[in-house]
Amino acid sequence: MIAMDSHAKGSLEYVPVPAFEDNYIWLVSDSRDAVVIDPGDAAPVEAYLAERGWRLTAILLTHHHQDHVGGVKALLDSRTAEGGVPVYGPAGERIEHLTARLSEGDIVRVDQPALEFRVLDVPGHTAGHIAYFQAHDPRGTPHLFCGDTLFASGCGRLFEGTPQQMLASLDSLASLPDDTLVHCAHEYTLSNIRFARACEPDSAALARWNDDAVALRAAGKPTLPTTIGHEKCVNPFLRVDDKAIQATLSTQFGQPISDRLDAFRVMRGWKDKFR
Ligand code: ZN
Ligand code: FE
Repeated sequence: MIAMDSHAKGSLEYVPVPAFEDNYIWLVSDSRDAVVIDPGDAAPVEAYLAERGWRLTAILLTHHHQDHVGGVKALLDSRTAEGGVPVYGPAGERIEHLTARLSEGDIVRVDQPALEFRVLDVPGHTAGHIAYFQAHDPRGTPHLFCGDTLFASGCGRLFEGTPQQMLASLDSLASLPDDTLVHCAHEYTLSNIRFARACEPDSAALARWNDDAVALRAAGKPTLPTTIGHEKCVNPFLRVDDKAIQATLSTQFGQPISDRLDAFRVMRGWKDKFR
């Protein structure tokens, strides 16, 4: 019954294709056509498309890092006969092959598969990083493709942006509906949970999430997608208002934590060195 339903007309599949060490390249398909988000490598994408018999119709990019854009040229080169496919990406970054430059509030519409995304500016990991929010799939579920901004129990490193920018970006993602499925671009969950538990040693939610994530990885499965509601419970970077976390940071670094931005800045610095 459930298996039948997943192939019903109008339903969509969201597939994480593993690439490199720990990247996921996401495909969204109606079981005939597909869009790809952040194809850092063409080969695993082509292999998956061929296996399922799917036709690629669009490429969506979140930021300029090679592990997210490195496969674009090869995907385009093998589709020149069909006239290529549109390549959507951030207006504020230098990326080759873009056919549409996007920023906050822009709408991306794809006909096949039928998809609509709202663009969010989420600077911090890179200066022009964007995210794609699909307000509802055919079943009413919202989806987010957030590149390297939000991870399960973590967030991206600040390579180009400031703590202020990243905190504002995470605030904007946290304001999305709790049931939003979050499609992150890396499998960093287990190491992120280790850090999250250092920030919040008494969290029962983190203990349970750790057990679930360990079991998923042991079975060779992704820990993603996560949800915004779940991340609000188990992601310390979305919990910088929490007084117990602020107290832990204060004790760890022997300095008072003045506000949520200070908590974010200190927490991100700690995570950068955490082993
Ligand atoms: Zn990146
Ligand atoms: Fe990345």
